[in-house]
Amino acid sequence: MPRRFPGGKLVLASHNQGKLREIRELLAPFNADVISAGELGLPEPEETGLSFVANAELKALAAAMGAQMIALSDDSGLAVDALNGAPGIYSARWAGPEKDFDLAMRKVQANMGDNPVKTARFICALTLAWPDGHCETVEGKVEGTLTFPPRGAHGFGYDPIFIPDGFDITFGEMDPVKKHEMSHRADAFRKLVAASFS
Ligand code: IMP
Repeated sequence: MPRRFPGGKLVLASHNQGKLREIRELLAPFNADVISAGELGLPEPEETGLSFVANAELKALAAAMGAQMIALSDDSGLAVDALNGAPGIYSARWAGPEKDFDLAMRKVQANMGDNPVKTARFICALTLAWPDGHCETVEGKVEGTLTFPPRGAHGFGYDPIFIPDGFDITFGEMDPVKKHEMSHRADAFRKLVAASFS
């Protein structure tokens, strides 16, 4: 039986403003008093895991133990088929210390070269962790294709080059409400809600 969120305070174990905004919106219907790890002055742990799940668990556990509260983390990224799944868990690092996603998207384009395979997916692991070390972890994804040059000013990260299957606009061009219905984060969130919030 998955462990349930009992309501009350919930620490978001992320310092990424784009993710924090999306997770706050996804959590809006639930009885959670949300505070971010940054607001609590918690340090960002090093992401030493070799999978989205491992990184989500280490981030959530560090925040849960540091704050002695239930914590929710998100580890996510873009997996490009033509690049054997890169940038994957290194999606944030491809943007460099300046978090320059124009640079990261150019890097993806340069590495793909003229490869005709344009398929990719966003993957999101979410972990809800308790101060006693218990974790509930789920993974979600959304399939799509990449387009260059980047299009649209909504969202964050690699959104302007990602066209989800069944659409002809990028996540960067999509109304955020629509993205929240169908994104990798929404998919993972639905699974977490079914396990621990309903
Ligand atoms: P991390 O999970 O903090 O290691 O960073 C994940 C990185 O993946 C983000 O910095 C973004 O570059 C990328 N990413 C994750 N989710 C999304 C999304 O919904 N849209 C665009 N980029 C994303």
